[in-house]
Amino acid sequence: MSGRLVVVSNRVALPRELRAGGLASAMHAALTERGGLWFGWSGRVAANVPEEPRVETAGAITYVVTDLARADYEAFYLGFSNRTLWPLLHHRPGLLEFERRDLEGYLRVNERFAAQLAARLADDDTVWVHDYHLIPLGLALRARGVGARIGFFLHIPLPPAELLATLPGHHDLLRSLSAYDLVGLQTPADLRALRDYFEREAGARLDGDAIVLPSGRRFRAAVFPIGIDTAHIARQAQAAATNAATRGLMTSLQGRALAIGVDRLDYSKGLPERFEAFGRFLAQHPERRRQVSMMQIAPPTREDVPEYRELRERLEQQAGAINGRHAEPDWMPIRYINRSFQHATLAGYYRVAQIGLVTPLRDGMNLVAKEFVAAQPADDPGVLVLSRFAGAAFELKEALIVNPFDADDTADAIERALGMPLEERKARWQAMHDHLAVHTIGAWRDAFLDALAR
Ligand code: UDP
Repeated sequence: MSGRLVVVSNRVALPRELRAGGLASAMHAALTERGGLWFGWSGRVAANVPEEPRVETAGAITYVVTDLARADYEAFYLGFSNRTLWPLLHHRPGLLEFERRDLEGYLRVNERFAAQLAARLADDDTVWVHDYHLIPLGLALRARGVGARIGFFLHIPLPPAELLATLPGHHDLLRSLSAYDLVGLQTPADLRALRDYFEREAGARLDGDAIVLPSGRRFRAAVFPIGIDTAHIARQAQAAATNAATRGLMTSLQGRALAIGVDRLDYSKGLPERFEAFGRFLAQHPERRRQVSMMQIAPPTREDVPEYRELRERLEQQAGAINGRHAEPDWMPIRYINRSFQHATLAGYYRVAQIGLVTPLRDGMNLVAKEFVAAQPADDPGVLVLSRFAGAAFELKEALIVNPFDADDTADAIERALGMPLEERKARWQAMHDHLAVHTIGAWRDAFLDALAR
């Protein structure tokens, strides 16, 4: 591959805030190898946004970041991205809120990003655009004469065509995807939805992995399930097993089993349903009381969006009610924590947990599910309880797969996990681990970029 790699994402991970293990480090590795540019929002809202973006260079990577004006932040980020697209793409049209001025702000920011980026691109660059904030960016770049290869990856789900059609302006928005050379999706279900949408709503036909519009314009769409840095997380977990944070947690458990959940405080994650399931499990299995504690780590996000504040209140109420009903002086059923933890700390917590509870109502992939598996000790692995509606369920088939809308189903899986014989735990874990050892974040990145180069 010749030419630079240009990564575009809503938030740019500047060198001083690089987080290990995630998308940021995968992009960082690719950019370092080839030399390249990372463009996007600085994460800052400013009263006066300068015309020109800020440029920072570190090694072979140039970071180009731009602030957002308050009105753009509200319309583009809080509004259309997080109040319209996020719920709709997570199959929740009932939560969708639409305002024309939000859509206008979304398009305006994409146009501005395109104008700032186009001036910096050469035709032999490879541009990789990430996620739902930037769907129309490819078209806006093409309109400015950009001839480079441009790929797009959608990190979140794509719902069926019937649901997509509830979005005002869906024709223009979704059709703008055809400006990309390659569109990547997390799962076969997402790809099916995209193809079906284009056939039904845009009169397109399929030709191998290409979608061909009546105008003759063709673009490719394929599945690239995102992975994790499996070996790195395994090492982190092993190293953390004896650190102060993990030891403190172990001591507090007094030999009891731990069921762990780690999710942003988001309505897509199925947290009320999970709490309900754990409460039911305790009610149905009085003999298990005092034998197991659940720890839910749930850092708040998007608190400027009302649904997130309401969810937080609901969970506080629910955790309080379940603990009030079942707790004993020396045992608290649910430990509910509203803050974020370092990756390395989480890895240690995953490792000492007997159960990983990953029960989103809908999730593009869910990396926590994969991290939980990667962190387990081979000689005594814990059990993953996984929602069938997480993208990860397409790969981690040896997890205990549940329907998170059915609290009894999840409660049964918790009971089954606690009683699962070592041999069965090992067999399930080994199969999932072998998959994750091959399908890493690096392999994902290479597969996407190879396909884009073809
Ligand atoms: N995470 C973290 N600290 C926390 C909570 C989460 O570092 O306190 C990380 C977690 O390890 C995972 C990511 O954030 O790598 C969440 O990714 P996931 O796909 O599970 O969900 P998303 O938040 O992207 O919807």
